[in-house]
Amino acid sequence: MPRLTKKVFLDLAIWMVSFGLIIALCFPFFTIALGISSEQALQPRFFFATLCAGLIAGAANYLLARTVIRPRLQLLSSRMRLVEDTLHGATYTGDWSACTPERCRVPVDSHDEIGDAAGSFNDLVETLFRSHEIESAVSDFANTLSSELDLDTLNKMALRQLMRHTNAEAGALLVEAAGELKVAIRHGLRDPQRLAESDHIREALRTGDCRKIELPEDVRVEALLADVRPREIMVVPVAFKKTSLAVVVLASSHPFSPESEWLLGLFRQGLGLALNNALAHDRLQRMAAIDPLTGAYNRRFGAARLHEEFTRAERSNTPLGILMIDLDHFKNINDTYGHIVGDRVLSRVSAVVRSAMREGDILIRYGGEEFMALLPGSSASDTLGIAERIRRMIKECEIKDGDQKIEVTASIGGIAYPDSDAETEEDLVRQADEALYCAKHGGRDRIEMA
Ligand code: GH3
Ligand code: MG
Ligand code: MG
Repeated sequence: MPRLTKKVFLDLAIWMVSFGLIIALCFPFFTIALGISSEQALQPRFFFATLCAGLIAGAANYLLARTVIRPRLQLLSSRMRLVEDTLHGATYTGDWSACTPERCRVPVDSHDEIGDAAGSFNDLVETLFRSHEIESAVSDFANTLSSELDLDTLNKMALRQLMRHTNAEAGALLVEAAGELKVAIRHGLRDPQRLAESDHIREALRTGDCRKIELPEDVRVEALLADVRPREIMVVPVAFKKTSLAVVVLASSHPFSPESEWLLGLFRQGLGLALNNALAHDRLQRMAAIDPLTGAYNRRFGAARLHEEFTRAERSNTPLGILMIDLDHFKNINDTYGHIVGDRVLSRVSAVVRSAMREGDILIRYGGEEFMALLPGSSASDTLGIAERIRRMIKECEIKDGDQKIEVTASIGGIAYPDSDAETEEDLVRQADEALYCAKHGGRDRIEMA
């Protein structure tokens, strides 16, 4: 049909009324063909009546079409306008609440082109909304993680979010440290450290590509999983500027959707950046906390650790041992062998003391040649035992200047909470210091408990 005007409904009106007119003009001749006399059929009154009937039928047809079709088209166009406005606003505000798929949905109640248009429109809204959800999930993920510098919190948040967005039931985050993969956080996996040795993980790390491992129904991975039997395992290497930092392992009892695989690809870029920041921050903090000569914690960091350990001991009513260790006649060593050798002695003694302590104990360089050891969980007798081991190991350690053996001994003052009358951390340190003073006066190379 040729277009007559720029309005479809006006075209429709013209066509329908014209058609009615043509029918009306032809109708009298049609009646003649049916046997009615031409005088009757061509009478002006009859002619006028058929003309009116044709015009009324044309107009009625037009009104009917307009009533049936127009509201649906209007609804579709108003929803389109709403989506357009929302999209426009959301570009600046990110607020999509005005146009959720439920709100913007157009009813699909006809099996024709209008129904098809409504259906396609609903699909379009659904896709737009989903893509917005994905975009905000990815930017939320990157924003939350990149503002977090504490490594433990970051690892926990990252694994939780990755599992949530991929519907994985179990997972672990393994972070690389000194060339080794260490489990930083896990959920639902029984022994993820064993995964670090798996070929899949090594291959993923080498290539930098995600890997999906499908497990047949009859394969049990008992060693790995506690609560679920995995159907699929995703291995996602995380890197920053081509330096691999970590590996995420996710396990699911159902196949991962292509959508969540795609999401993982986006998430791991944000995670790489955030993890790199947190690792750098962690390294800086360590550097700021450690005395470079002896590798022991410096006094400032030591004071914070003492406060932490004392508060923990008080709260959980567990013992805490403290040792003050001071090298005997160290000035003589400096005077005899020089300061550089004196430095070497300090560094060596620190290493010896650390090797005499247990994991979880803390060594602090308290002053020039004076160290403080915090021994969480040690009663007075444990503390005395460790002090004796330290004293003996310092005395026995071989430190040489050329062929000459340097004799080093230490005096130690010890105390343990709550096996003493010290009630505050200041009291503990003061009494341990007094005990050290007694050990010096008692002849050195010995231990005194407060
Ligand atoms: P005492 O048995 O009474 O503890 O005698 P001491 O000589 O060890 O004690 P004193 O406090 O008189 O001397 C400590 C010496 O430790 C003096 C100082 O030069 C030396 N010292 C402190 N810090 C360092 C250091 O970083 N390197 C070196 N080489 N010497 C240090
Ligand atoms: Mg000394
Ligand atoms: Mg001293």
